[in-house]
Amino acid sequence: MSAQSIPYKTYLEESELPKNWYNVRADMKNKPAPLLNPGTHQPMTAEELGGVFCADLVAQELDNENRYIPIPQEIVDLYKMYRPSPLVRAYYLEKKLGTPAHIYYKFEGNNTSGSHKLNSAIAQAYYAKKQGLKGVTTETGAGQWGTALSMACSYFDLDCKVFMVKVSYEQKPFRREVMRVYGASVTPSPSMTTDIGKKILEAHPGTTGSLGCAISEAVEVAVKSEGYRYVLGSVLNQVLLHQSVIGLEAKAALDKLGVKPDVIIGCAGGGSNLGGLIAPFMGEKLRGEADYRIVAVEPASCPSFTRGVYAYDFCDTGMVCPLAKMYTLGSDFIPSANHAGGLRYHGMSPILSQLYDDGLMEAVSVEQTKVFEAAELFARVEGTLPAPESSHAIRAAIDEALKCKETGEEKNILFGLTGTGYFDMVAYEKFHEGEMSDYIPTDEELAKYRAMLPKM
Ligand SMILES: *Cc1c(COP(=O)(O)O)cnc(C)c1O
Repeated sequence: MSAQSIPYKTYLEESELPKNWYNVRADMKNKPAPLLNPGTHQPMTAEELGGVFCADLVAQELDNENRYIPIPQEIVDLYKMYRPSPLVRAYYLEKKLGTPAHIYYKFEGNNTSGSHKLNSAIAQAYYAKKQGLKGVTTETGAGQWGTALSMACSYFDLDCKVFMVKVSYEQKPFRREVMRVYGASVTPSPSMTTDIGKKILEAHPGTTGSLGCAISEAVEVAVKSEGYRYVLGSVLNQVLLHQSVIGLEAKAALDKLGVKPDVIIGCAGGGSNLGGLIAPFMGEKLRGEADYRIVAVEPASCPSFTRGVYAYDFCDTGMVCPLAKMYTLGSDFIPSANHAGGLRYHGMSPILSQLYDDGLMEAVSVEQTKVFEAAELFARVEGTLPAPESSHAIRAAIDEALKCKETGEEKNILFGLTGTGYFDMVAYEKFHEGEMSDYIPTDEELAKYRAMLPKM
């Protein structure tokens, strides 16, 4: 390989941190569909949403007009603890693959919570504090969001009540303890502390819980407790807005290097990191200023984009949350064992769902063992031990680079490396022991859950 004309890592200066979030909805011709009241099927008003969410966040959720939303200085100052994050030119991966492609990744794992989720957690905790609240409630599956939120709440001296899916609470005690280091209380879900939890436990004794069930419990506690609101770490418009810092920084760094990506790739659970990474690029695409191929990568075991339907659905099991129009597998769908906990949600961001439906982005699904092969290849040459979720994007980026090897194309590939995998070593162990399954749901199974979607 010739000398590295482009630096291995490109950092912006602190002073170059984005001062505004970019709201891609302002540039979308077809806006994402509104959240609906589950009882009346009418669009949720700001007042209704305000009973569950913080006031400023409700305004952001409903804002389809303002292209730029200023980032409060307190948030920018906290971002400085771990931002700007590096844009890395994956020279060693390129060499290993023998590809003429140029691969770049934006690394969001260099904070204690280990993922991009802190970008939105800090924003949401800030607005809760600004409103004078005592605390917030939330759910967490594998624990990344709960960890990020507990960190953010400790910065702002807010109480943080986390409902953690019981199976993860028992099997992933380390993340639970990180949350407790930051002062959060962590309850395994379903629990006897809520009405919905009791109801679920009566109906399904011995259940190990699900994300949808933990959401219902967290919402119930927020609504019933004076001075509390509920916060969510993905899917919502406001979360994609906060995550736009990833894309804004990536684009600024690439512009400095004079590089235009041809393909932009990200893993998609609820869609927040991908929505954030692509935001400014999608903006150019929507305004007709530039074109990019944009690819969402999801697990074959939970294929919301590639095999779901675009329809209104419940966001939670208890059906207390608003209905969202999104690519969904049905709120009763529970994916088979998959070690990328952050990619197991049945639905998808309404913004990305609309963009996908309009043909502005693509999606692929990948099998778990192929993902871990890519993860290990990456770790061995690039040094970073990737999270299983992030490794979905690595897989797709490697496949794209291998295609370039066949065609000889020098494409620029950008992907999002959302986090590190230090708490996922049981998954790596299963992979090494050959105990990892690649179960893909059948069409019959998917049809069963599709038939249970709410009738509109
Ligand atoms: C939560 C998580 C994801 C998936 O969530 P999105 O909202 O789709 O971004 C991806 N990677 C990591 C490391 C996560 O923690």
